[in-house]
Amino acid sequence: MTSTNDIRRSFLDFFAGEGHLAVPSAPLVPYNDPTLMFVNAGMVPFKNVFTGLETPPGPRATSSQKCVRAGGKHNDLDNVGYTARHHTFFEMLGNFSFGDYFKEQAIQHAWTLLTREWGIPAEKLLVTVYHTDDEAFDLWRKIAGLPEDRIIRIATNDNFWSMGETGPCGPCSEIFYDHGDHIPGGPPGSPDEDGDRFIEIWNLVFMQFDQAADGMRKELPRPSIDTGMGLERIAAVMQGVHDNYDTDTFKALIAASEGLTGVAATSDTTASHRVIADHLRSTSFLMADGVLPSNEGRGYVLRRIMRRAMRHAHLLGAGEPLMHRLVPSLVTEMGQAYPELGRGQALIEEVLLREETQFRRTLDKGLKLLDEETGDMGEGGRLDGETAFKLYDTYGFPYDLTEDALRARGISVDREGFDAAMTRQKEAARAAWKGSGDAASDEIWFDIADREGASEFTGYTATSGEGSV
Ligand code: ATP
Ligand code: MG
Ligand code: MG
Ligand code: MG
Repeated sequence: MTSTNDIRRSFLDFFAGEGHLAVPSAPLVPYNDPTLMFVNAGMVPFKNVFTGLETPPGPRATSSQKCVRAGGKHNDLDNVGYTARHHTFFEMLGNFSFGDYFKEQAIQHAWTLLTREWGIPAEKLLVTVYHTDDEAFDLWRKIAGLPEDRIIRIATNDNFWSMGETGPCGPCSEIFYDHGDHIPGGPPGSPDEDGDRFIEIWNLVFMQFDQAADGMRKELPRPSIDTGMGLERIAAVMQGVHDNYDTDTFKALIAASEGLTGVAATSDTTASHRVIADHLRSTSFLMADGVLPSNEGRGYVLRRIMRRAMRHAHLLGAGEPLMHRLVPSLVTEMGQAYPELGRGQALIEEVLLREETQFRRTLDKGLKLLDEETGDMGEGGRLDGETAFKLYDTYGFPYDLTEDALRARGISVDREGFDAAMTRQKEAARAAWKGSGDAASDEIWFDIADREGASEFTGYTATSGEGSV
């Protein structure tokens, strides 16, 4: 079996052999984009290169980039534990051409690596192209010899990438792996494409146009390439398993969680072990990159993820704080590829212990209240917004934790009622605020608080120019 660590290495070596400069992962906190909460794609550190603001490190580059998708446009938090393919933290393998090679070579490289270098059977693969991109369609015929029914034309934005309202954009082509007809789910473009049978492993973005403010697109003189492949997903394929959570890295983390809780992963407990393993990675990597839990901004997103994992630890019956005791296993699995984990280990453990100790003080009471309020509800029930807000405000339950806690029982939460209660509390705080005597600065403060949420950062706006890949 090829380990995840070997696959990462093999990808970078392959592209280095094709003249790409291997660059280390950038930190999870973007240095070049204040509107973006966390780096969520391999191209993010290269944004300014693609727009021409910075000189590229070379004409071609390759990386394995740490990514977090736990808020904003790309929020996979609610998928974790429930799909085979989503994490809050994952690594995106990428190769980049900065005005050097274009479509033909990008497709050639991808196909060679997957089928020749790695020996993945061609008949298990299918691809999508943007519906008008005849060039990509023909290249897949020519290079891969794929039959026409396995080159699917997609008309939605899933296959058209743009950096924002203006700037570089272009069609993309995604590569899917068919895990077999025993798994529910349809091919891309079909009504049940969100199932887990056909799993998207690699997205090739062809940056072909420059979009002006009036929506007009003109061909870029030197088009570029940006690709992204999920390391955990390709590891599942190469290790002969369907589910990312059955790959070597996750098996080790889940075994550690089983060992420390004394609870085996069964159909009842698997989701909790998965959430714990996933959230251990995202929270540890975020702290290794300098994010600490707080009540706003990035720190609040971190705290939300932590507390969610901590509820699952509690659900498994952990009598004492658990998360900090799992960090050594993570360092064993990933510390060699990411030395910042080892450097940050003591801090990460200490913060996790402190947070979990503190949260456990209110967790029990909050869960009791939640039980009282929903005890007689069946599937299809709905928790009122006032209670969800009380759980948030008094017991420190992030909104999504309450939602997650009720999900298994098919009970939803009144989000509007929650938001209304939050707004009421903010208005009350504003009315009670006597002011500093400096009206202008008070106003600015409240503007910011309204926009960002005094205690909850609501995320960056959808159009703020996040990369899809
Ligand atoms: P999906 O449709 O499965 O949610 P995506 O289209 O959102 O994936 P992209 O934005 O195209 O993903 O990112 C490029 C690649 O990164 C994907 O092809 C996939 O292999 C990987 N990837 C994306 N999101 C995740 C995630 N949450 N966890 C693990 N891997 C991911
Ligand atoms: Mg997605
Ligand atoms: Mg997709
Ligand atoms: Mg995609």
